[in-house]
Amino acid sequence: MKHKIIIVGGGFAGIQAARKLARFSFNDAEVTLISNKTYFEYYPGLYRVVTSASPIEVAIPLSDVLPPNVDIINDVVHIIDPIKKEIIARDNVYKYDSLILALGSELNDFGIPGVSEHSYTFRSVKDALKIKQAISNLVLSCPRSGLPESCYQVVVIGGGPTGVELAGDIVSHLEDLVIKTGISKNVVQVNLVDAGPRILGALPEEVSRIATKKLEDLGVIVRNNIKISKITENSVVAGDFVIPARLVVWSGGVKPNSLYQSIPNLTLSKNGKVVVDEYLRAIPYEDVYVIGDGADTPKSGLAQTALTDGLYVAHVINRGLIGIKPKKYKSKFTAHAIPIGTKDGVVSIGPLTFSGRIAYWLRHFIDFDFFSGWLSLPKMLDLFWDGYKYRKLHEGDEEPTK
Ligand SMILES: Cc1cc2nc3c(=O)[nH]c(=O)nc-3n(C[C@H](O)[C@H](O)[C@H](O)COP(=O)(O)OP(=O)(O)OC[C@H]3O[C@@H](n4cnc5c(N)ncnc54)[C@H](O)[C@@H]3O)c2cc1C
Repeated sequence: MKHKIIIVGGGFAGIQAARKLARFSFNDAEVTLISNKTYFEYYPGLYRVVTSASPIEVAIPLSDVLPPNVDIINDVVHIIDPIKKEIIARDNVYKYDSLILALGSELNDFGIPGVSEHSYTFRSVKDALKIKQAISNLVLSCPRSGLPESCYQVVVIGGGPTGVELAGDIVSHLEDLVIKTGISKNVVQVNLVDAGPRILGALPEEVSRIATKKLEDLGVIVRNNIKISKITENSVVAGDFVIPARLVVWSGGVKPNSLYQSIPNLTLSKNGKVVVDEYLRAIPYEDVYVIGDGADTPKSGLAQTALTDGLYVAHVINRGLIGIKPKKYKSKFTAHAIPIGTKDGVVSIGPLTFSGRIAYWLRHFIDFDFFSGWLSLPKMLDLFWDGYKYRKLHEGDEEPTK
C-alpha cells in the first residue's frame, strides 16, 4: 500500500510542499493536494490588480504550478479527525497516512463594528477587483464643479506592508484619474491609518521613517496611534476623532484559519497559531504537520516563511519514509521589499535599509524570481503576454466620461 500524503491548502506553503514531495517521486507514496480554490493567489501582487495589473497575473491555475504526479482536488475541508486519520470535506471523505495543513490565515476585524458592511477587504483577487471598481465609481460620482471637500477621501486601514503598498498605489492612481477630469489633484486625500505608533511596526524604525516620508511626498496622510472604534457609511471613527471617508479599505489584520481551532487536542498559541514541535508536527500528533501562516514559528505570516516550511516538511516526510532522521526546523532569514507608489520603494534586509527606484525594481525582481521558480518558461511568457493584453484592453477604462 502506498503511503498517502494529503496536503490541505493550495497557497505558498501547500504548493511548495507538494512540488518538493512530487520531485522525490518515491514509488511508495502518493501526494494529493486539496484546496478550496482551483488557482493559486499570489497575494504580494494583489495591490497591482487594484490599479493596473491583470488578475490573470496573480491567479495561477494549480495545474500550472503542480507536477502531474500530484493529485489536485478542489474541495472545502470542514472537519479534520486526527484520531481516525480522516478529513471530511464538502464533497468527500479522505483518508491519510501523513497530513500537511497549510490553511493560511483569514481576515481579522478585531470585532470592530462596520468592517464587513462599510469597508472593502483585501485578501483575494476578487477583493482587488472590487476595490478597483469602487475607485472608478468614486471618480465618476464626484462632480467636476462644486466638489464637496470629502469627495475623494479614501482611508486605508492597517500600516503593514500591504497597507503601505496599497495606499501608495491608490494615491498615484487616483490622482491620475482626477487630473484627467480637469480637476486639481489636490482634492485627493488618501489616509493610511495605523493603531501603532508607526507604520511598518514590525520592521526597523528607519524603514518606517523612510516609508512615511515617501508616502507623505506622494500625498498620503499617514496617521499613527489611531485605534478605530467603528466604520460607518461615510467615516472612520476612532473615539472622538472622525475621518470622513467615501472609500475604506481594511488591511488591518489577519488571524490563523479558524479550522485549526476545531481540531481536537491541538495546542494553540495566544494568537491562535498551532504549536508545533521541531519537525513542524502539530503537538500531540506525529502524522499531522502545520506549515505557513498557521504554524507558531518565529517568522510565520510571510510568504517567504511559508515557502521554507513547505520545503522543510517535504524533507521530513521523505526522510521518514526512507528511515533517516530529519534535520530540525530552523526559521530562515527574511527580507522585505516594499514598493511605494509607481517608482519608489524601501528594502529591509537584516541591518541594511535602502530605498528609491532600486528598491522598487528589486521587488519586481523578487516577484519575477518567484514565478520563474514555479512556472515553466512558456507558461511565464503566456502569463506576461496575457497581462500585457489585459492592460492594453483596459487602458482608459476608468477614465471619466461625464
Ligand atoms: C494582500 C497580501 C499581501 C501580502 N504580501 C506579502 C509580501 O509582500 N511578502 C510576504 O512575504 N508575504 C506577504 N503576504 C503574506 C503571505 O501571502 C502569507 O504569509 C502566505 O500566503 C502564507 O502562505 P500559506 O500557504 O500559509 O497560506 P495561503 O497562501 O493563504 O494558502 C492557504 C490556502 O488554503 C486554502 N484553504 C483555506 N481554507 C481551506 C479549507 N477549509 N479547505 C480547503 N482549502 C482551504 C486557501 O484557499 C489557500 O489556497 C501577503 C498577504 C496578503 C493577504
